[in-house]
This record gives sequence, C-alpha cells and structure tokens, in this order.
Amino acid sequence: MSILISPEATVLGSANPAQAPAAEFGPSNPFYAPSTLPFQAPPFDKIKDEDYQPAIEAGMAQQRGEIEKIANNSEAPTFENTIVAMEKTGQLLDRVMAAFDGVTGADTNPYLQNVKSIEAPKLAAHEDFIFLNTKLFARVDAIYKQRTSLKLDPESLRLVERYYDRFVHAGASLSEPDKAELRKINEELSSLSDSFINKLLAATKEGAYVTKDKAPLTGFSDSRLAAAAQAAKNRKLDGFVILLQNTTQQPDLVSLSDRGTRQTIFENSWNRAEKGDANDTRDVISHIAELRAQKAKLLGYPNYAAWKLEDQMAKTPEGALRFMDALVPPATAKAAREAQDIQAVIDAQHGGFQLQPWDWNFYAEQVRKARYDLDDSQVKPYFELWSVLENGVFYAANQLYGLTFKQRHDLPVYHPDVRVFEVFDANGKHLAIFYCDYFKRDNKNGGAWMSAFVEQSRLLGNLPVVYNVANFQKPAEGEPALISFTDVTTMFHEFGHALHGMFSDAEYPTLAGTSTARDFVEFPSQFNEHWALYPSIFSHYARHYKTGAPMPEELAAKIRKAETFNKGYDMTELVAAAELDMQWHLLSPGAPLQNPDEFEKEALEKTHLEISYVPPRYRSSYFSHIWGGNGYSAGYYAYLWTQMLADDAYQWFVENGGLTRANGDRFRRMILSRGNTQDLAKMYESWRGAPPNTKAMLKYRGLEESAPDK
Ligand SMILES: [Zn+2]
Repeated sequence: MSILISPEATVLGSANPAQAPAAEFGPSNPFYAPSTLPFQAPPFDKIKDEDYQPAIEAGMAQQRGEIEKIANNSEAPTFENTIVAMEKTGQLLDRVMAAFDGVTGADTNPYLQNVKSIEAPKLAAHEDFIFLNTKLFARVDAIYKQRTSLKLDPESLRLVERYYDRFVHAGASLSEPDKAELRKINEELSSLSDSFINKLLAATKEGAYVTKDKAPLTGFSDSRLAAAAQAAKNRKLDGFVILLQNTTQQPDLVSLSDRGTRQTIFENSWNRAEKGDANDTRDVISHIAELRAQKAKLLGYPNYAAWKLEDQMAKTPEGALRFMDALVPPATAKAAREAQDIQAVIDAQHGGFQLQPWDWNFYAEQVRKARYDLDDSQVKPYFELWSVLENGVFYAANQLYGLTFKQRHDLPVYHPDVRVFEVFDANGKHLAIFYCDYFKRDNKNGGAWMSAFVEQSRLLGNLPVVYNVANFQKPAEGEPALISFTDVTTMFHEFGHALHGMFSDAEYPTLAGTSTARDFVEFPSQFNEHWALYPSIFSHYARHYKTGAPMPEELAAKIRKAETFNKGYDMTELVAAAELDMQWHLLSPGAPLQNPDEFEKEALEKTHLEISYVPPRYRSSYFSHIWGGNGYSAGYYAYLWTQMLADDAYQWFVENGGLTRANGDRFRRMILSRGNTQDLAKMYESWRGAPPNTKAMLKYRGLEESAPDK
C-alpha cells in the first residue's frame, strides 16, 4: 500500500464505510488485473471514464478486507504478518488511483470531476479505517516495542517506525474518550477550514478592481486590456475588471503607471478579508489556531508545530526557526539595497514620494530593463521545447548518471500531446518509463508537477513509471514550440522529481521515491534546476531552432545575471510568510483567542520583518496554504528549506569537480535512490559530509553580505 502523503489524517466520516457496489466491477474492467503492457503502463487505450469509479470502490473494499484479515489474525504479530502484509494491501486501489489522479489532473472532464468529489470523502474515511483501527494499531505497537530485538535491516526498521508514527499521529494510541474528543476537534477544524475557503473565495472575488474608464489602466497592453474587458463582461459589467490573485502583490502592478490605481489594487488585496463583513476571515483563523493548539495537546505535544514537524527533516519548530531567523538579516539587507535602487528611479523621475509596496514591481521592472535588458522574444528561438528536453534535460541526466532515452510509440497515452520515453541505465538495462505532457489545455490543472503511474518497489516487483506535466503554450500546427527560460527551468525542475522517482531503489512502497517529507521533496527538483545553466549543458541545448547556432554569449550572460534580480524582495516576502505561519502554530494550548492583526504585527516585529515596502507574501487573513487545509500549516518554511538543500548540494558538486559521472553516481546512490528509507537529515549529512547550511543559497541569490549589486 502507499500511505497518502497528506500529513494530517482526518478522523472524519464513519470508520466502517458502506460496502461498495462491487457488482459492476469484473474482469472486463481494465483495472481488474495488473496491466499486461510493458512495465505495467496503464492501458489508456482501453480505460473509459466509467471504469474508474467501480474500480476505486472495489479497490477500497478489497483493501478493507485485506486490512481486516491482518488485524484479526490469530497469530502473534510479526514484522512479516503485519507490517509487510500491510505493504502488500491495496494494490488495486493504488493502480486505479494512479491513473485517475493522472487523468483528472491533466485531462479532466465534468464526469471525472464528479467521480472525484464523490470519492474524496470516501477515500479520507478509508484512510481513517486503517489508521484508527484499534486492533491493527495494537499489532503495530507490539512490533514497535520489540523492534530493536527483531534484527531488522535498517530499511525495515525505518518502515516499522514510520507505521508507528503514522498511527500515533492520527490518534490511534488515544483512549476512547480522547479519540472522541479528537474526532470532534477534527470535525470542527474541517468545517472552519471550509468556512475559511468559502469566505476567502468570496472576499477575493469582491476585491476585484472595477473601472468604467480606461484611463486608470494606462500601461496595459491591448491584450491585457481586452482580457480585463472580458472579465467585466463575464460579470455583466461595463468597463474593466481586474481580478485579485492569491498573493499580496498583484502581477498587474508591474505595468500600471497610475499610482492611485496601483495603491487601490494593492489595498484591495491587502484588506480583502478584513472588511468586517460576512467574508471577514479573522474570527475563523483565530479559532483554527486555538483548536490546532488543543489538538496538539491532546496528542501529547507542546504546540501544533511540534506535532506537525516531528516527521520532517527539520524535526522541531526550533530547527525551522533557527533556519528562518538566519535568513532575515541578509534577505532584508538585500531588499533594502533594492529599495534604494528603486527610490533612485522614483527620484530621478521627480516622483516626489517614498517607495510603497504598490510601487515596488512597477519600478523594479524599470531597474530590470535598464540593467539586464533581457527580452523573451530574443531568447525563445534558442529554446525549442523538444530540443531542450533531449539536448538539455536528458543530456544532463546522461552526463551525470549515464542515462539514455528512447521514444516509444507503442504505449497508449491519455492525450495525443503526451510523449513516452523508455529510460535505460548506464549498463543498457531498462530503468523506467517516462511520460511528458507539456502543453496547456483548458481541462488541465495550472502549474507543473510530477507523479507516478507505477511506484518502484522491490517487494512488489514494480519498476517506476513516472510522468511530468506542465502548461507551456502550444504552438500553432507546424510551428516550433519555443519556450522561455522560466519554462526551461520548470522542465529541469520537474525532471528532478522524475529522477527521484526513477532512481528509487526501495524494498517497500511506503518508503520509495518521492514519498519523503514536505521539507525534502522539493530538494531533488530544485537541485536539478542548477544544470540548466551549467556551461556544458547550456551550450548543448540552447541553440537556434532554425540555424542550430549557439546562443550568443552576450545574451546568455544576461540570463545568468538576471538570476539574482529582485531576490532580496522575493526572499523577504517568503520568509515573512513562513515566520508568520510558524508563529501562529507555536501558540500554546490554552493561550487566549488572538486578534489576528495584533498577532501578525507582533510576530513580524519580533522576527524583524515589519518592513514597510516588503509585506509578507500572504497576510494571515488570506494565507490559504495554512488555513484552507493542513498541507502547509507549520510547513511553509519548507519552500525555503529545500532551496537551501538544493543550493548546498549543488555547491558540493562545484567544489568536487562539477558535472562528472562519479559525482552523479554518488549522489544517486546516497540520495536519489534512497527515497525515505533513512532518516533524511542523516542521509543528507552522510552524503554532504556536513549538515546543510545557507551559504550557497545566499550566494546564488546575490544575498551575501558583501555581494556587489550588479
Ligand atoms: Zn516541485
């Protein structure tokens, strides 16, 4: 079985979900048996939309039966008959969910979305059925207590510990009254999160900027103006509407030259959920914070952050805080230098005002143009997507790890834009299957991601089948797909995740591949981004799509230089949001209900981040990463933490001869193949020879104390 990565089990729903209507599920369903295609690739040519739901239902029913059998086994609990047995459960469910998640993410339709919303609560209840099962926990607990005398190999020992923690984290070790209390808290938390999401959605909609007149929008391109007019039409309004984005800063402020318009849009964003109306979220978030602290106490932790970080690489809130606190001085110092540059532009134009947050992006863009003069239309002809893939992304993997790739046309795909490659190891042996689906579609989620159709496991005899999805502009028929350097970086990033999945060499599926901690999983991907600019890689793929000529050095230098642009602002707004998140989750149980505005002000002052021109990336009242669900609560720091790991790791390569097969193989052996089979901090340290530090992270972003401003 694969344990869902979702870090917080909900105790919602019945522990005994109704039996599934198994009647519709039989051998004619393509998920009924493991795929007979090479490497168990999903048979997308046979799978119909109607096949998923009965297979999901049957998959849950099958796993319930398997789990019951383990829980009710009359033999004494052993590692084999309990832990290993659990690892083997749920194979049908894993099979169908891997394909279902892939298709609903990248090529969905109303029918599949409906199936998804029907099955989501059932899947949550299914997880509870496993992790709140008292009999099952008693067996896991017994094995855990005698684990040191069982002579288990290190990976098996780690598996026992992960299972035990997972059960305890979910509340399986509590007394029945405490379990009932936990269930109540979780239900309340879940409805408060729902309420937060709904209020914020409405508040964000209400916060749109509306104008009948074109004049306030001076600076908009014709196409941006047309989009704003369309947004107004969609609301049956005359004029123009500018929708709010999730973040504090709004992308349109880069181009709007009317300072009053910028200020209004910024304030709409900043105050969106603090208007004292029905969409005000402040009351909701102070209650969520209070309840989370109570939940932590019930589970035996001093605060919610301590509970949340236990299975993370940082391990304790103190570890994460030390890390963040150390970033504040260099980040804010660089932001101050950037602010000076911007103020100089304002003054040179006789602006007659002090820089405010709504001015930042507008003037920073002018600094950027003056300093780097980097024009996307100049660089794109050198980045033809398929050449970037084969001569850049694949080539880097070849130089570092010896991998080779061969396109396959015989494996079915869920959409004609998807390409499939077989991946061979340095010794010529089959390693994995890699799918890529790079073009934007209306029925695809935004952003880019990696996942797996089949996860590697020696126990189950599975080899990895992984995929990357992105949202690049699809060219017109017969035209080349020319992409930006940002897109190039995205390809390297997602392929870094793919390598983590493909190199996985774990016995147990629970510990395989990318199934690591939130503050580790973005490390291999961000690390892989570094090779995009590595000279011998860059010159191999950055070639003109028509002539094959390498990119002129002058242009390449601009791309490299622009890498450190605005990094003071970027890191300051991120670290401010991360500190806010952590402060909220360090509240002790029994602390009085907080006033969010006062709390936020104090938290930012305390961490030296109350800076007039750099507000946090999210204000508490619209920080949906931490209140809208549990994913990033007490975990927003992970974005920065994994940057540290990626840069520190790349620095090791720089200090040890750069891109060589020996270096690549060592990294693969000690990190990329290990999944979650070892303590992550120890795994890192034994490869690096030292714990990670922020030196390289600061250097690559131009944030060193002595870094000259370019
Ligand atoms: Zn990623």
